[in-house]
Amino acid sequence: MSLQFKIEARSGAARRGRLLTPHGEVETPVFMPVGTLASVKGVSQDILEDLGVQILLGNTYHLYLRPGVAQVRKLGGLHRFMSWPRAILSDSGGFQVFSLNELRKVTEEGVTFRSHLDGSSHFFSPESAMDIQIGLGADIIMAFDECTEYPADQTRMRASMELTLRWAERSKKYFEAHKHEVPWATNHLGTAALGRPGERELAVNAGGGARETQTQALFGIVQGGMDTALRRESAERTIEIDFPGYAVGGLSVGEPRARTREVVESTVAHLPVDKPRYLMGVGTPEEIVEYARMGIDMMDCVLPTRAARHGLLFTSEGKVSIKQARYAGDEGPLDPNCGCRVCARYSRAYLRHLYASNEVLAQVLNTVHNLSFYLDTMRAVRHSI
Ligand SMILES: [Zn+2]
Repeated sequence: MSLQFKIEARSGAARRGRLLTPHGEVETPVFMPVGTLASVKGVSQDILEDLGVQILLGNTYHLYLRPGVAQVRKLGGLHRFMSWPRAILSDSGGFQVFSLNELRKVTEEGVTFRSHLDGSSHFFSPESAMDIQIGLGADIIMAFDECTEYPADQTRMRASMELTLRWAERSKKYFEAHKHEVPWATNHLGTAALGRPGERELAVNAGGGARETQTQALFGIVQGGMDTALRRESAERTIEIDFPGYAVGGLSVGEPRARTREVVESTVAHLPVDKPRYLMGVGTPEEIVEYARMGIDMMDCVLPTRAARHGLLFTSEGKVSIKQARYAGDEGPLDPNCGCRVCARYSRAYLRHLYASNEVLAQVLNTVHNLSFYLDTMRAVRHSI
């Protein structure tokens, strides 16, 4: 069994549930912090554990380029490499190839693209994207898809959707044939010397010998641009291929927010009620609450971590731009209603000083608060369902 999903409560379209992965349990709806390069920028794994993070996202495209999948596989997979004992989800690489490569070339076979690091040429296909994700060893991995650009006309949206469907079939076929090659399926961490705390927890989470029968779970991705009829068709045909979970992709690509909401709401209506639903790459604190209310179970976004590094903080009283001079003498906490370690200890004046002085600690503390705020927001949503 690679993944189990239990729904424990419902309220309207929203659901509260539990995802059981080979690396522990994830309470849903969940916000997944983005750890692009096997690191949530500025925050160490022990702090992420303390914040209650149960699942992290890794970016296939970035990890493929650095440090490379062969290296990660040799070091026991992503969990062991980054000493993260809890669940991980990796994206397919399709979105990064789309967003970071203006010179990409898409054919039936796959996508040729240039590295944003050194301009070298690379190729991703559904098969190679599966091979890379199996080597990285995340608990949940994604079918290789084409993210349709916005705006796109009807012909283009359909062609792109059809390509993603063919790639979904190829992804599943390759995954089924190779899923037992995941590094932790054959890596007997539970029996040998368990030096690091992360590894001990790995063995406990996996229930000892049960680990060997566990594999990753491959999710399908619904595309179809901004056309709700195409989204419906994409959902129905992706469900026919049969995956243990479904993602809604191709949003937050420049369309108006109201359109994003319409597409999400209409797509969710066509997804199976008993499988996890993952909305990729959204959103603000208000938006993640709204999507959870629509019945989305999993979300990720770089917003809390990226905004934090630019001094933009989310609080119960709205957004705070900590760089502003008016905080220079402000002895109050960043957010009086936040229980995080940053708000419990430091003043706005100190956080403003750190940011203005370009101290590394500014990025750390700002990120810890923003992540806490997002995680608390989702906790509150779960309690309310
Ligand atoms: Zn806080």
